[in-house]
Amino acid sequence: MKKRRLFFRIFSGLVLIFIIVTVFNSLMVKSKQPSPKPTDIVIDEGKAVQHLSQAITFKTVSYQERSKFDFTEFTKFISFLEESYPAVHDELELEKIHEYALIYKWKGSDSSKNPIGLTSHYDVVPVLEGTEENWEHSPFSGTVENGKIWGRGTLDDKIGVIGILEAVEFLVNDGFEPARDVYIMFGFDEEIGGDEGALEIVNTLKERGITFDFVLDEGGAIVENMVPGVDQPVGVVGISEKGSATAELSIEGSGGHSSQPKNQTNIGRIASAIAKLEDTQFKGDLRGPGEDLFEYVAPEMSFAMKYVFANKIIFEPIIEQILLQQPATAALIRTTIAPTIFQAGEQYNALPEKATAIINHRLMPGDSLEEVKTFIEDTIEEDAITVTITGSEASKVSSINGWEFKSIQQAARNVYNNAVIAPYLMFAGSDAKHYDSISKNTYRFLPVQITSEDLNRMHGTNEHISKDNFINAIKFYAEIIKNSNR
Ligand SMILES: [Zn+2]
Repeated sequence: MKKRRLFFRIFSGLVLIFIIVTVFNSLMVKSKQPSPKPTDIVIDEGKAVQHLSQAITFKTVSYQERSKFDFTEFTKFISFLEESYPAVHDELELEKIHEYALIYKWKGSDSSKNPIGLTSHYDVVPVLEGTEENWEHSPFSGTVENGKIWGRGTLDDKIGVIGILEAVEFLVNDGFEPARDVYIMFGFDEEIGGDEGALEIVNTLKERGITFDFVLDEGGAIVENMVPGVDQPVGVVGISEKGSATAELSIEGSGGHSSQPKNQTNIGRIASAIAKLEDTQFKGDLRGPGEDLFEYVAPEMSFAMKYVFANKIIFEPIIEQILLQQPATAALIRTTIAPTIFQAGEQYNALPEKATAIINHRLMPGDSLEEVKTFIEDTIEEDAITVTITGSEASKVSSINGWEFKSIQQAARNVYNNAVIAPYLMFAGSDAKHYDSISKNTYRFLPVQITSEDLNRMHGTNEHISKDNFINAIKFYAEIIKNSNR
């Protein structure tokens, strides 16, 4: 009897210690958000909106086939920039690389400091043939109606080009002088990989030995209801982007007549290999930028969520299980497997001699192409299937501890006072990866507050932006230039 009581006492003592420690941990969680210093920048809104609207009317469309580019539109777009931003073109040095990629250099008072760079692109994706009619306002009209600006490029990414130039035009006219050199760089082929735009800009600057403290590109945005448990809008700043790899699984062997098949056919073997991969999956692991995201949003969550994240050591397996339930959060914590092409067979009564499947993988930082290949081979356990892999590794992960990330956070908070600004991992590729080789940090953030429908419109139908968002984007760019030049 005594023993049992003693055991009970020890047990309840341990539970009490557990509760005290874990609750204490949750109470110690401090917000990682800087206090906003609301921006006092006043923009000539009418003029800015007119500029974005005009910018949309140039059909600077990127096609996979480079010969289809209509470069007269690109030339006209550059002339339009020169006419619309006289102060920028007076004060900053403009250099054209390959005629259409633009580098503006704004000399600072101390050029011995590392410069910063803002980048964007002015090419846009084509409007799919046959979908023009579905647009509420024609995609290259630049219509302004009910506080919205319509057209291809309003979100991706002429808003970046025009937003940055409006900000610099404002700052130059306001007499602002940067403390370090500021580069503004615009690509013209981002939508097809940026090889002649961003990459050539990078090569040019690399030859000159330039190293940026940070480069800011498009990428994340401010979204609501994306992070479960957070009521405020969350602005996500990409600090890394996943790699993209194409794995080809192929098998060759005897075909034959379909009237007497073997138990295992080429199609069956590839299909079962894919099924094995889907059943196995890469292990989910809350680490790197995905983990950083939660470190930044957890302090803003309800007590229950704060409790869970403050005691991650204990709850990590549960958190990971929850994140793996949804494709969007699963992609945050593991390398993904997406079979996208399957090819085999030509005739209904002939067994194909060859079957191939293409699987697109998006790689977590830290998972290399070689490791993905090994994972596939170990999982499918089929010597007859050849596995080849090509593609790009994940980008490097930029710092969130230095002044660079903090100044982006501060600038965003100054404009969007109630938004939580957090780092995250981008799933899609961007021009930013090119800048990794000449910049200590690359961040990916478009300073607008958007919905998931807006995201779908980016390369789809009815792309548009509200005037308020656009004006806020300009203010953000002015704030980030001021904040990083103190
Ligand atoms: Zn873009």
